Amino acid sequence: MRSSRRTTQKPDFPARTAPRAGSLDGLDATIATCRACPRLVAWREEAARVKRRAFRDWEYWARPVPGFGPADAPLGIVGLAPAAHGGNRTGRIFTGDPSGDALYAALYDLGLASRPTATHRGDRLELYGVRITVPVHCAPPGNRPTTGERDTCRPWLARELQLLRPALRAIVVLGAFAWQALLPVLTDAGWQLPRPRPVFGHGAEVLLAHSGGGRPLHLVGGYHPSQRNMSTRTLTPAMLRDVLRRGAQVGGLPVRLHHGGPGA
Ligand code: SF4
Repeated sequence: MRSSRRTTQKPDFPARTAPRAGSLDGLDATIATCRACPRLVAWREEAARVKRRAFRDWEYWARPVPGFGPADAPLGIVGLAPAAHGGNRTGRIFTGDPSGDALYAALYDLGLASRPTATHRGDRLELYGVRITVPVHCAPPGNRPTTGERDTCRPWLARELQLLRPALRAIVVLGAFAWQALLPVLTDAGWQLPRPRPVFGHGAEVLLAHSGGGRPLHLVGGYHPSQRNMSTRTLTPAMLRDVLRRGAQVGGLPVRLHHGGPGA
């Protein structure tokens, strides 16, 4: 258990620190030290103290959870935030919770992940050409970060996208929160949004030109693979696979179906 008695940082810690990260590894390591949001610091550490019965033998990560995947990934996937007993426990995004079970199974089906399951940081899972990240790096109560917390965390995402940009061609955006969080970051980074602003939807697609003459960026929207969306079949495994496949296609990645029927 990590102490919650340590002080939080000033809210401008990400804004002051993120631009100085010279590599994705360096950025990831720095993100993991962040304590800029008092409510989220308290929540992530409280979850680690109380635990879930099934995980009582775990020493929770209880820190911000960085993105996962190679720095030269043509395809980004942007979700919401770590789960209190998922990423906040295992230290890897989408790892150890039902959302991650659905996401990594779909990526494996498409040949974009080495394994269909993600259980812990030492499970040897690799992503091929895919980088997964989130606009809020700490687990929020009720999976609902505030807009203030989203904005405080934004510089980490902005720097991550800068570092990914040389290879980045497409982003699959999982859920309306991620869509809303991502668009201003893309604008700040020079990508031009059409007017009216593109609206989130499952299967929504937008091609963003870059004002500096850089490579355009494809956005593909998809419902978040939350437990609720999956259990109500608002999002099925086939639907999730389809938006990821589309993201891979427009990102120039080869896709192949390992297994899993189209109606799964
Ligand atoms: S949500 Fe982001 S800005 Fe807030 S403490 Fe976590 S890493 Fe830092």
